[in-house]
Amino acid sequence: MSNLENILENCTDCRLCLDECDFLKKHCISPRELAESFRDGMHKANPKIPYSCNICGLCEVSCPKKLNIGKMCLEARSQLVSEGLAPLEQHKPLAEALNWNESNAFKLALPACNNYAFKEQTKWVTKRAFFPGCALCAHSPGLVLNVYDYIQQKLPSTGIILGCCGAPAHLIGEEQRFLEVVEGLKSNLEELDCSEIIVACPCCLYTLKRYLSNYRVTSLYSLLEELGILKNEKAELHQFSVHDPCSARQELDLQNSIRNLIRTAGHEVVELEHSKESTYCCGLGGMAFAIAPNLSAQKARRIIRDTEHDLVTYCASCHGNLAAQGARVIHVLDLIFDNSWQDKIVAPPADPAAARENQRQLKLKLLERAEMA
Ligand code: SF4
Ligand code: SF4
Repeated sequence: MSNLENILENCTDCRLCLDECDFLKKHCISPRELAESFRDGMHKANPKIPYSCNICGLCEVSCPKKLNIGKMCLEARSQLVSEGLAPLEQHKPLAEALNWNESNAFKLALPACNNYAFKEQTKWVTKRAFFPGCALCAHSPGLVLNVYDYIQQKLPSTGIILGCCGAPAHLIGEEQRFLEVVEGLKSNLEELDCSEIIVACPCCLYTLKRYLSNYRVTSLYSLLEELGILKNEKAELHQFSVHDPCSARQELDLQNSIRNLIRTAGHEVVELEHSKESTYCCGLGGMAFAIAPNLSAQKARRIIRDTEHDLVTYCASCHGNLAAQGARVIHVLDLIFDNSWQDKIVAPPADPAAARENQRQLKLKLLERAEMA
């Protein structure tokens, strides 16, 4: 049964899901009514509607019947693409960004023995690859190198892959492009001859767990918890609230690892009312910002408004969107790996040109080190 049919059959019009969702409040009286209009082809006349949903899954958590309107919007998007009615003009920058992330300017796969500093420890076998994801590389190439060095110190047989997981294409309904990206990633893993991928971005984790079924897909944060991190003895205790990305809504172990890492780093966690399973989307989910930028900004501002403490998040995209809306927010990896993290908490996100330059520089730096190895 499709998600649309499921909603038509099971939605009781109780409207509990509308309480938490500005998209639903704006576009329907109830999800059943929205499903009826999609069934009757309304989304073809007004494709912006399914593209304005954040695909964040909060409705499924609020719904007594566990109905997920985001999944219905995703089905509508795929249908629009297959009928040639989408992607829309506003999605062009997303396609360009994906093409850049998949281009030779950034994409890279290096085996474990690529770093002169760890040459003696390296057994020349690549058992696993670190996949930081495109957004974290755009956020901070130095941070990615620090994290990679740390993993290699502990697990020398770790290679690295730079690129995108393809989620932006999947989320706008471009399944063919998405599968091409995933196939490229599989080729990288085959080339490195490794069986495990260590993933930093929760959105990549969500995507790759479902599409790299022959590989072990591990969360970087669970791994860091297992490997242990150094407590910054000079750090003054700071109270943080955690913004859980909507892609990590169902990842209880990951959510707990983040909190444990923050505590191990010497800080305190004060839970938000909307966290973990009931977390709010930062506004970037589902690529809705391309179509509904105001709704997207409104969602980020809601999180900021509801927060009394500085925020920690573990998604570079959430970090960027919250920072752009004025939040005091830090990426958990900056908190753990940078002793001067206080300066990062008010840093604005990199603009698109600077973000690409960060990605390019990271690749060059890795290649430079590989040549020395
Ligand atoms: S909470 Fe579930 S049953 Fe109630 S209106 Fe929303 S989708 Fe329908
Ligand atoms: S997936 Fe998120 S944005 Fe979309 S309808 Fe559900 S709660 Fe609203």
